[in-house]
Amino acid sequence: MNDMSRYWSKTVKNIKPYIPGEQPKDRKYIKLNTNENPYPPSAKAINAIKLAACDTLRLYPDPSGDALRDAIAEYFRLKRGNVFIGNGSDELLAFSFPAFFEPERPPILFAEVTYSFYPVYAEFFNIPYRLIAVDDEFSVFVEDYFQENGGIIIANPNAPTGKGLSLADIKKILDKNKNRVVIIDEAYIDFGGQSAVCLIDDYPNLLVVRTLSKSHSLAGLRVGYALASEELIEGIIRVKDSINSYTVDRLAQAGALAAIQDDAYFQETRSKIIRTRERVSAKLKDFGFRVIHSEANFVFISSPQYPGRVLFQRLREEGILIRYFDKPKIDNFLRVTIGTDEEMDRFLEVIGLICGTT
Ligand code: PMP
Repeated sequence: MNDMSRYWSKTVKNIKPYIPGEQPKDRKYIKLNTNENPYPPSAKAINAIKLAACDTLRLYPDPSGDALRDAIAEYFRLKRGNVFIGNGSDELLAFSFPAFFEPERPPILFAEVTYSFYPVYAEFFNIPYRLIAVDDEFSVFVEDYFQENGGIIIANPNAPTGKGLSLADIKKILDKNKNRVVIIDEAYIDFGGQSAVCLIDDYPNLLVVRTLSKSHSLAGLRVGYALASEELIEGIIRVKDSINSYTVDRLAQAGALAAIQDDAYFQETRSKIIRTRERVSAKLKDFGFRVIHSEANFVFISSPQYPGRVLFQRLREEGILIRYFDKPKIDNFLRVTIGTDEEMDRFLEVIGLICGTT
């Protein structure tokens, strides 16, 4: 097919879609490239999905997902009206752009190194944006977010660096931007960092976006949720109900509800991942790698000797997939998802062999 069709709209002609991490089919890899959780989902979630599949698939799901919203609200001591659920947090983000940002306003702000879906949404919805510089340590400076803007979006911890922003800094950004919506994308918050959820009652302009994909091992189910003031939640609901009333299917609603309620299992698996991350980070430092301090379920690393692209290729040949970004400032770095201890031992073994440290 041509890379252009005369039938496409101008938007579709011009857009550069987001490229998700590879889901390989050619062979079995140790898959450390898309920040999936290496542990299975809660058995209670799987049972709930099976039950829902047997009983109710004939029927449309609850369009507002109230049972799941109530469970999430209870978990965070909020009200149903403070919770919105979506088909992955990507969908929540996609709905939030037309809900809260405007083409005619000053640009929205986000970091030059952050989740690469943000510029795609901005371009798709015709929202002007300004990239905010990060330093060589990938730190962001809150003062940069005090300038005039049409809204702000910050991933905390950031992706793909894993760096967290303190609650005090988030508060400063919210205080300086009371007339604009500030989205805090907490896709990785369960692995470290300080959540902004406790600020929701005080800041009607704060939208916290989260996902069950990573922390609850449910990337395949596609469930994300947003927590915010009732007025912001109502804004996203208006977008959803103008596009598709049933974004979260029955299996997803049932599985997500059971997963949220199985807190013991969640605590156990996330602690394991954090422990493995700390062990792997220390070992990589011993090998001479630069390891950015991570509060997420991945580490962002670079080797003083081997270019990122070369290491990525060599690991792939050895059956280990990690994520490489061919982009300015980060093209010598690799993002490595934390897998099981066995997977990470193999990763360290191969890295050691490639770098001649073992
Ligand atoms: N935000 C960030 C920062 C992410 O890295 C991801 C995962 N690619 C998402 C949101 C989306 O996650 P999901 O749609 O699976 O909830």
